[in-house]
Amino acid sequence: MLKLYNTLTKQKEEFEPMDKENNLVKIYSCGLTVYNYAHIGNMRTYIFMDTLRRILKYNGYKLKHVMNITDVGHLTSDADEGEDKMAKSAREQHKSVYEIAKMYTEAYQKDFKKLHIEDTEYLVKATDHIKEMEEYVKEIIKNGYAYETSKGVYFDTSKFKDYGRMLSNNNLDELKAGARVDVDNEKRNPQDFALWIKAPQEHIMKWDSFMGLCYPGWHIECSAMSRKYLGDVFDIHTGGVDHIPIHHENEIAQSIGATGKVPAKTWMHVEFLLINNGKMSKSLKNVYTISDLEKEGIEPLAFRYFTFSAHYRTKLNFTWDAIKSAQVALNRLREATKQQKNGTEKADPKKIKEYEERFLAAINDDINMPLAIAVLWDVARENVKSKDYYDLIMKFEKVTDLDLDREEKEEILEYSEEVQKILDERKLARENKDFTKSDVLRDKLKELGYIVIDSKDGQKLKKV
Ligand code: AMP
Ligand code: ZN
Repeated sequence: MLKLYNTLTKQKEEFEPMDKENNLVKIYSCGLTVYNYAHIGNMRTYIFMDTLRRILKYNGYKLKHVMNITDVGHLTSDADEGEDKMAKSAREQHKSVYEIAKMYTEAYQKDFKKLHIEDTEYLVKATDHIKEMEEYVKEIIKNGYAYETSKGVYFDTSKFKDYGRMLSNNNLDELKAGARVDVDNEKRNPQDFALWIKAPQEHIMKWDSFMGLCYPGWHIECSAMSRKYLGDVFDIHTGGVDHIPIHHENEIAQSIGATGKVPAKTWMHVEFLLINNGKMSKSLKNVYTISDLEKEGIEPLAFRYFTFSAHYRTKLNFTWDAIKSAQVALNRLREATKQQKNGTEKADPKKIKEYEERFLAAINDDINMPLAIAVLWDVARENVKSKDYYDLIMKFEKVTDLDLDREEKEEILEYSEEVQKILDERKLARENKDFTKSDVLRDKLKELGYIVIDSKDGQKLKKV
């Protein structure tokens, strides 16, 4: 029986899909805001989302999973204030907001592929659902949960007595006190939040609506899109822990306003990835991306493996030493898998069954990946070398997907002068920290049939 921790009830619960007849699980995951490169913290959350999908499928469920792309700029602060993130990025890079969205969407999708994060059944863009959002806002107004001001439409939090307390046990007084000091006199309650905002002249992304040229508040897109594809109430909603106190509380409030129901039964949140035990920040220059790891010779799948080393509800601390150890461990796990593949002995069926049960118990205990990986290691390291164990590892790979079957390729030691020249040029580029050039040269080598790996002993070549 699959058990999942639910932030709404603060307990682990036995999971049962609402649509038992079709064995179908409906999931909504808050997606990325595409104004910047996604960092490895974001990726922890999406690797979790992917693992959850795979575990549900391992248990025999079918999925209808929606993830959104936030390509409407929401503001630089959670409280609907500050500058539009997309517009800011576009201005800084002399590009249009649409170019910005396209560029960062393509970038994160490349990373997802490298991390073996499967496509969700639906990938939906906020800009394609402005009409649905407008209708949703109108419903909330009609039901008496929202009001108009000169700035736009606000959700009246006083109408929902549990506002801010559904997931986070927020104290309303604290929320009030915490609400911005530059109080908007037109708001009925300081913690009321914007649903639909009148666009100032200079605002780029705006749409004609019942209130003239407007743009949506940032919480409304998830409510409108999840409802369109999954209905008023669906099974599971996922996101990072930072979404608990504001974004998801507000999503619930909006649903109560429109449908009278809490939109999801189970709410799952991933704890943060820390860097050297602290927050990632631009000023500390430690907002790492998957490409940054690759530049140091770390495979994206080593990061996937690394995230399995901690339970998703605990913080995970990234250090360069830790990720390098993860890469070494992953290489060893592949080597051990190969030994089983080449094994000629017969495995004890009782043992196979026991391992299978242990693996299932681990993943079904609120996605306990550290324990599941420990079982995987036990199988890979079995003294009896048997193809049966290899087959079992391949079965577990439906969840882990770490390319454990991959044959390590031999290092190539002899190559043409042309290749040597590119390698020299690349070495120089890296010494000068010109990573753009170094990446271009990496691609050039790829065209010639070589993968370059940056190890501490310098560049190494393998066949593509
Ligand atoms: P955003 O584009 O900011 O909405 O973030 C995308 C997802 O990444 C959200 O689900 C966030 O909760 C999650 N996230 C952001 N920072 C981290 C982090 N350091 N560790 C884990 N998840 C994060
Ligand atoms: Zn969302």
